[in-house]
Amino acid sequence: MAKNILIVGGGLAGTIVANGLCRQLAPQLRSGEVVITMLGTTETHMYQPGLLYVPFGRIREHELFRDQRKVLDRRVIFHVDPAKHIEVAKNQVSTEGGRTLKYDYLVLATGSRIMPQSIPGMAEGAHWFYDLEGARKLRDALSKFEGGKIIVNANAPHKCPVAPLEVTFMLYDYFKGKGLLDKCEITYTYPIGRLHALEPVALWAKPEFDRLGIKYETFFNTEKVDPEAKTITSAEGVTMPYDLLVTIPPHQGAQVIVDSELGKGGWVPTNTKTLHRDGSTNVFVVGDTTNIPISKAGSTAHFEADVLIDNLASLLTENRMARDYDGKVFCFIETGTSTGTYVWFNYTTPPNPGPPSQMVHWFKLAYNRLYWLSAKGLL
Ligand SMILES: Cc1cc2nc3c(=O)[nH]c(=O)nc-3n(C[C@H](O)[C@H](O)[C@H](O)COP(=O)(O)OP(=O)(O)OC[C@H]3O[C@@H](n4cnc5c(N)ncnc54)[C@H](O)[C@@H]3O)c2cc1C
Repeated sequence: MAKNILIVGGGLAGTIVANGLCRQLAPQLRSGEVVITMLGTTETHMYQPGLLYVPFGRIREHELFRDQRKVLDRRVIFHVDPAKHIEVAKNQVSTEGGRTLKYDYLVLATGSRIMPQSIPGMAEGAHWFYDLEGARKLRDALSKFEGGKIIVNANAPHKCPVAPLEVTFMLYDYFKGKGLLDKCEITYTYPIGRLHALEPVALWAKPEFDRLGIKYETFFNTEKVDPEAKTITSAEGVTMPYDLLVTIPPHQGAQVIVDSELGKGGWVPTNTKTLHRDGSTNVFVVGDTTNIPISKAGSTAHFEADVLIDNLASLLTENRMARDYDGKVFCFIETGTSTGTYVWFNYTTPPNPGPPSQMVHWFKLAYNRLYWLSAKGLL
């Protein structure tokens, strides 16, 4: 009997896992001992980090998308048929399209989604760039903007931990380039008592903001947005007026995780090292879907995926796990429209951002194109 590996979610993590397994389990796939199946929601694969550049006209939309079947190894059986119910007690997943798929190993890679509707007035009064429609609307709003109060409002939890800082720096450079800086006041809000969850990043960002005259309001947990009055109010009792509100909406995990009662808020309780779903030996979790208290980022998903590929291949061929995930994360940080820096860290080593440079910015732009090789497992 073939061993069935079922991957739910065809985003960054699921795709890297599928392609990596095809490489490592090539003989077993050829002989029919292993079958790899993926369930996804669309025919297209989107490079989400590219959305950051859409509002500034710095990426063409077509560069964000590829046909998922072309990104995936041909040996993966791919169904555009979203998982509807995941029954870990029965080792099976039922789909919107009426399939019932049995598995020997399950990989949960359903990611996270923005929830602007969870804060009153946010969907109507704010702009964001975390999906294509939002990024397009922000691009249109920016092109018409003639100056005023801009608020960049970060809410937790959210993926890409440095995106709120990046968009703030990029807005600064954008307004500078348009000669509007004198007419603009940029304020950045953050839910905890500093500018970033990672303390070394917060300590690095503060003097950068001070140097550029970017204001900030910390301990700002968004309670409501009033689209008519154009104000944003925090649970801490601060109300601020805005002319342009750029929000990073709070996130949740996928609905199927909530509906299958696999984790509060759609985050699946996960072993920080083995990536097992807590309480399961044949269910693994990878990418944004985990409840691991580290950054939800593409690089996190990628490093976790590399570990999972080794472990699943070892389990299937040698009946043992190969190695642990060490919490590794790497993030480029755009510090404007022509400079950048980066951080890397893991469970034991904190991040240490360096001085911004044009070279790091170019590396990030290069990675935006190399991503497709990375998704195919070639990088
Ligand atoms: C604007 C922006 C900028 C970013 N910048 C960076 C960056 O610079 N660096 C970085 O490292 N990360 C960045 N990220 C974060 C990165 O894109 C995510 O962390 C990464 O995509 C997570 O991978 P994932 O596979 O867990 O989730 P995703 O890539 O979101 O994939 C999840 C997949 O699961 C599918 N799915 C959901 N429900 C179901 C279901 N019921 N059945 C089947 N499939 C389902 C979804 O459709 C999706 O395709 C950025 C994200 C955004 C939005």
